[in-house]
Amino acid sequence: MHTFEFIRPANPTAAIATAAQSKTAQQGADVRFVAGGTTLLDLMKLNVETPALVLDINRLPFDKIESTPDGGLKIGATVRNSDLAHHPRVQRDYAVLSQAILNGASAQLRNMATTAGNLLQRTRCMYFRDTAMPCNKREPGTGCPAIAGSNRTLAILGTSEHCIATNPSDMCVAMAALEATIHLQGPKGSRAVPIADFHLLPRSTPNRETVLEPGDLITHVTLPPPIAGSKQVYLKLRDRASYEFALTSAAVVITLAGGKVTRARIALGGVGTKPWRSREAEAALVDKPADATNFRKAAEAAMRDAKPQSENKFKIELAKRCLTHALKMATAA
Ligand SMILES: Cc1cc2nc3c(=O)[nH]c(=O)nc-3n(C[C@H](O)[C@H](O)[C@H](O)COP(=O)(O)OP(=O)(O)OC[C@H]3O[C@@H](n4cnc5c(N)ncnc54)[C@H](O)[C@@H]3O)c2cc1C
Ligand code: SF4
Repeated sequence: MHTFEFIRPANPTAAIATAAQSKTAQQGADVRFVAGGTTLLDLMKLNVETPALVLDINRLPFDKIESTPDGGLKIGATVRNSDLAHHPRVQRDYAVLSQAILNGASAQLRNMATTAGNLLQRTRCMYFRDTAMPCNKREPGTGCPAIAGSNRTLAILGTSEHCIATNPSDMCVAMAALEATIHLQGPKGSRAVPIADFHLLPRSTPNRETVLEPGDLITHVTLPPPIAGSKQVYLKLRDRASYEFALTSAAVVITLAGGKVTRARIALGGVGTKPWRSREAEAALVDKPADATNFRKAAEAAMRDAKPQSENKFKIELAKRCLTHALKMATAA
């Protein structure tokens, strides 16, 4: 691993001012925050990330989970994934989030991983993690070997000719279905970004993954008040039962009245270049009877724009079955 300086800023203002000196907050950043370290240190050992300065934010005051005045939830940036998944309010009101987190990684990793770190975890595309290979995300303009190469686990939605990498997070998929808001503090003040706008499509700049600018520190995430009577399920399909990323997953938050769907929020994992909210599936469900025919129609709608690569066409049918089954589970509960 390359040499780097490691410091613990005394407060958020100092952390932001120091990080603002970085030339970018995206790939190639020379200053990085570190929280749990389970993504960053991994990539530093592989020389994919080579920051000259690492700022430890674990002592900053962002480790609380609190109810908001409107009945929603405020989740601090450094709250550990395991604490979030086991929090009584999350289990009661935002069960899809608890299920998604507990479906990810391992107990040890979840004990270290944080809310903000999970939002910013990087793709598992093998070419991205191997500095001997070209990769547009790691080194813009070098090409995307995955398109003609190993792409079984990569994305079928939101891809571009420059990058087809999957966003690997489970937590973010649940947060997309719950319509979370990401709160940032930066050199120019604070701002709130809906999760749907936080991650960027790869387009011609796959090295740019989020809206973050140098110095931007995620302070917390908020969830809106829970939807009364909503049924929630996170279903993850993968090559083995644990310690594995999703081939496809579905987060469902659905409300029924008289056998009909009155509200649906659907997000998919393992198939998109970002956590994939499917408004197409939602539109196909609302005001329709909650039955197998309409669930399949919603799944077809979700995959209408899917563009498979040489090795991952199977994901289209898998994702359809995953969403159909998640809807059945949620509405049967
Ligand atoms: C073997 C393995 C298996 C895994 N399996 C899964 C899985 O199945 N599902 C899944 O979803 N995830 C999985 N993960 C990923 C894991 O969830 C992430 O590594 C973890 O959530 C990252 O959180 P962290 O706190 O450790 O991040 P860090 O490594 O500390 O940071 C990650 C990035 O976020 C930035 N950052 C951190 N905090 C802030 C902040 N407050 N503001 C701005 N930037 C910040 C850092 O600078 C860094 O760029 C796996 C990881 C490993 C190693
Ligand atoms: S899919 Fe994206 S991350 Fe993977 S090699 Fe291509 S450009 Fe790099």
